[in-house]
Amino acid sequence: MDCLDVAALAARLPPSPRTRFAPSPTGYLHLGHVVNALYVWGLTAHLNGRVLLRFETHDQIRSRAEYVQAITEDLDWLGFHADEGPVDQTDDGRYAGALAGLAEAGHVYVCGCSRKDWVEPADGAATPSVYDGRCRDRGLADGPGRSLRFKVQPGTESFEDGRGVLHDQDPLRLNGDIILRDRDGQWSYHLAVTVDDRDQGIDFVIRGEDLLDATGVQLRLTRMLGRPRPPVFLHHALLMAEPGRKLSKSNRDTGVRDLRATGASPAEVIGLAAYRAGLTATAGPLRAQDAAAMVGSGPGPGTVRARTRVLG
Ligand code: GLU
Repeated sequence: MDCLDVAALAARLPPSPRTRFAPSPTGYLHLGHVVNALYVWGLTAHLNGRVLLRFETHDQIRSRAEYVQAITEDLDWLGFHADEGPVDQTDDGRYAGALAGLAEAGHVYVCGCSRKDWVEPADGAATPSVYDGRCRDRGLADGPGRSLRFKVQPGTESFEDGRGVLHDQDPLRLNGDIILRDRDGQWSYHLAVTVDDRDQGIDFVIRGEDLLDATGVQLRLTRMLGRPRPPVFLHHALLMAEPGRKLSKSNRDTGVRDLRATGASPAEVIGLAAYRAGLTATAGPLRAQDAAAMVGSGPGPGTVRARTRVLG
């Protein structure tokens, strides 16, 4: 069980906060999603909040209607029912509007590079982990095959996460000039989630720690998009397929559909997810309604909030 201090969280959030469960319909639901659902529904219940179901369809090339339908059915089967939605990221002009505002303020430039152009190092050089901004001052015109990037300024983004841990992230070093609209004309993950979290009034973002490095740059984007009070971000441990290997949606041993096909019950699937994420000592059955008990508690006697500072 993850003993998150719910009273401390509630003190930082509005009453009845809005959270979101935001799967990308580029594959089927797997146990990693179930762990995220345990946190989202569990913490939202503690906080007397509301869960919005949002399908992150910004990647229209990889998103598929059949996955939207399968995820909807599997969530329902597991017993995770959203209070609001579903919504998706079908372009309704909000992303273009956000981009236009950023461009007008001089924060956007046209990039003519493909990933290959900057990922392949010159002889002897180390492989860069983020885009080096080489098109920043080229003054390229927008056009087919060109992407648009956010001109990330140097400087630290400091935030206290939902566990009370202080993070100092340097988005330029960590993320580089992130893409806002890619070469195929699709809205990027960073732009789409930031605009959606703003427009949908998301107060509390609960997601896996694989996305921790995205938080600083998204906080910066949030403020530049005119939202002075950004959400609180909480990152939880990921479910591991094997030590050191992240799960992918194609892992057949962890697909909710595949487990269903073996005759597993919803409670068995949820229990397995909780166990594989270290929330329980055994893989016994658990119901969606047990989520709150798994992920949080009020501060007991002697509870000390972590005040570590983490540099990113
Ligand atoms: N759609 C993302 C995913 O499925 C989650 C994005 C987010 O929480 O910011 O991993």
